[in-house]
Amino acid sequence: SPLLDTVSFGRTFIGLEQVDSTNVKALALAREGAAEGTVVVADSQTGGRGRMRRAWVSPPGVNLYCSIVLRPPLPSVRVPEIPLVAAAAIHGAVTQECPELQAFIKWPNDLIVAGRKVCGILCEMESEPDFTHFVVVGFGLNVNLDPVPDELQGIATSLAIETGRQVSRARLLAAILNRFERLYREWLDEEDLGSLLPALEEHAWLKGRALQIEQFNRVLTGTEAGLSPQGHLLLRQEDGTVVPVASGEAHLRPV
Ligand code: ATP
Repeated sequence: SPLLDTVSFGRTFIGLEQVDSTNVKALALAREGAAEGTVVVADSQTGGRGRMRRAWVSPPGVNLYCSIVLRPPLPSVRVPEIPLVAAAAIHGAVTQECPELQAFIKWPNDLIVAGRKVCGILCEMESEPDFTHFVVVGFGLNVNLDPVPDELQGIATSLAIETGRQVSRARLLAAILNRFERLYREWLDEEDLGSLLPALEEHAWLKGRALQIEQFNRVLTGTEAGLSPQGHLLLRQEDGTVVPVASGEAHLRPV
């Protein structure tokens, strides 16, 4: 594509009409040795997934369903930062292609427009026999979905619904891959989320909000007080104590 301005992201590009899940396909390719930057895109998914095996509604012809293979040469403790790198990249690309919209990043893995979910990100890591690991970063982005299917009424929206115009999936995908590769490379050279933190905090959907977080066997209540450099959500409790919450262990809801 003449729109793509990357070294590795999207240079191997698998475009499919239909797939069970782009993440499942990309994980299979990665196990067979697919290079970093390998991209799987499908026009529709029959078994699109979110976290905890929740379904991702994936009708044909309108949205982006995309997964990217990464092989970060870093200890696996840094992998939980990757969904936030992806979120920053997708947020930037959506803002570039739809400057009339105000999009927010909902920690740890969603994009919100007009109070509704427009994008979900799902990162999966696997270790290899030689102790290296690969990561598949998948996202579903509602681009020209209109109307919102019944089961997502009040939950989801799309770029077309919010802008009132059609948005080019090819342009948007190229903008995402261009930006994600740049941010990913910068992130690899840093110790933590570092230079991405200001943008992540500026566009945070949960900024300063009252939250309840279900963690293991306890429930924490407090207000959002920013992000740690490791991508943990900082929750300021009633007594002033600030607790870092890791994404994997949290289910949050507004108080
Ligand atoms: P929650 O939405 O409860 O905060 P989450 O952000 O982790 O959880 P995921 O598991 O990543 O959500 O995504 C699955 C959920 O996203 C589904 O339960 C459904 O509510 C919603 N969803 C499914 N398909 C779409 C879609 N195409 N657009 C927007 N939201 C969707």
